[in-house]
Amino acid sequence: MAAVHAEIAIIGTGITGISTAYYLAKNHGLKNILMIDCHQPMAFTSAQSGENYRNWWARPEMVALTNRSIDLMEEVARESANQINMNRRGYSLATRKTDIDMLVTQLHNGLEEHAGQLLRFHERSEAPTYKPPIKPDWSGAPDGVDILRHQDLIRKTFPSYSNDIRTVIHIRRGGTISSQQLGMYMLEYLKEVGARRLTGLVENIHSSEGFRLQVRTTDGAQQISADQIVNAAGPFADKIASMLGLDLPVFHTFQQKIAFEDRANAIPRDMPFSIDLDGQKINWSDEEREMLLDDPEFRWLGEDMPGAVHCRPDGGDGGTWLKLGWAYNETPAPATWDLPLDSNFPDIVLRGASRLNPSLKVYLGQLPRNTHHYGGWYTMTDENWPLIGPMGQQGAFMNCALSGFGTMAASASGELCAKWVAEAELPSYARGFSLDRYQDNTLMAALLAANKGRL
Ligand SMILES: Cc1cc2nc3c(=O)[nH]c(=O)nc-3n(C[C@H](O)[C@H](O)[C@H](O)COP(=O)(O)OP(=O)(O)OC[C@H]3O[C@@H](n4cnc5c(N)ncnc54)[C@H](O)[C@@H]3O)c2cc1C
Repeated sequence: MAAVHAEIAIIGTGITGISTAYYLAKNHGLKNILMIDCHQPMAFTSAQSGENYRNWWARPEMVALTNRSIDLMEEVARESANQINMNRRGYSLATRKTDIDMLVTQLHNGLEEHAGQLLRFHERSEAPTYKPPIKPDWSGAPDGVDILRHQDLIRKTFPSYSNDIRTVIHIRRGGTISSQQLGMYMLEYLKEVGARRLTGLVENIHSSEGFRLQVRTTDGAQQISADQIVNAAGPFADKIASMLGLDLPVFHTFQQKIAFEDRANAIPRDMPFSIDLDGQKINWSDEEREMLLDDPEFRWLGEDMPGAVHCRPDGGDGGTWLKLGWAYNETPAPATWDLPLDSNFPDIVLRGASRLNPSLKVYLGQLPRNTHHYGGWYTMTDENWPLIGPMGQQGAFMNCALSGFGTMAASASGELCAKWVAEAELPSYARGFSLDRYQDNTLMAALLAANKGRL
């Protein structure tokens, strides 16, 4: 079969590859784009996203990247009459602690000189300047961070939270979007401007005067020649790089979620994405805990678990579903196409989440039969920053390692990767997200010591 030629071949049509193609076409006029994937678009990791976004990070570069991404998503929301269902009730970080100096320092670090303006403390039961997240609309929602430190104010605003919550940090530029709709919107545009798609598995890449990709399709082997390539292969980005003899500093951990219909109305529909910041011991009965502690395989479940179990209403104010997640798995494993779901996860996450929202206990041992249990790979670097830019060989680029923030960062990471490919002027954060950062020992030491923002 004759080789198909493309100016640029993008490997992967998850949200990262699609967004890169979109900004290459939209901002730089590239038309001869071929997007290759062995799955349908948005069908692998991008189909598993919790679809949450926020601009809360402990480093200003990540704040800048996600702020830019949110600006771009707002642009699409405006152009498409909000086809992407963008809403903005923020992220609510709840803790039983009153000493939150470390968190406030992290917020200061992320917001830099804007912190004085953007951090608002509410110490009394009445807070006339605090806008509770009553409406879902993104336009007109406040920016910055509200810190609620009075229990009456917290109870009034978040009635489903447990009574022992003493502090709520309410990140305002955050919410949810439909990432599937965002991907479809971008694909529609790409189709209109003539970008092509090929369904097949990239099995090999040779490089000399451009690239020759060997792709296995249902019709057999297809050769693709491309002047440039973008590696947006998600959990298989390291495999794609290795086809060129390149090594990417990434690893993979498997993370899970559940979604179910809240038939008991346990959670108010206007509750923002809510995160229990505190670590916990899961509320097993004494007998269950004893059994777990006796079993080497399950011992960890009876011991201290990390914070950051989260819950949010799904499907809008008129909907009835909830999503629960807890990225407690820190054990790296090779990425696989088959996803290793743990049948114990639904019970674990439900128990964990019912600490912040005790009304969820109504579902213990009786989650609805149509509960959806799903998961995917967080492909990440040690410092949990993405890899965007040249991959280490002339004409080869990468947009990968988007960990648990790929939905929220994809628009800006696609825009940034497109700039690298088109040799356009780069934003100030570009070098930090490229492989160049590994040459900067001071930056790397700071990143490894900082809060990684993993949720
Ligand atoms: C449980 C979970 C919850 C998450 N929640 C959120 C969230 O709330 N907010 C957020 O911002 N992010 C979230 N994320 C992260 C986000 O989903 C990912 O970062 C993002 O989807 C990654 O997109 P991607 O395009 O890089 O990868 P993918 O969507 O995996 O796309 C890569 C594509 O490459 C293709 N591919 C790979 N190798 C080959 C090959 N050799 N040949 C052909 N095709 C190939 C694959 O088929 C795949 O379609 C979550 C992730 C998980 C797992």
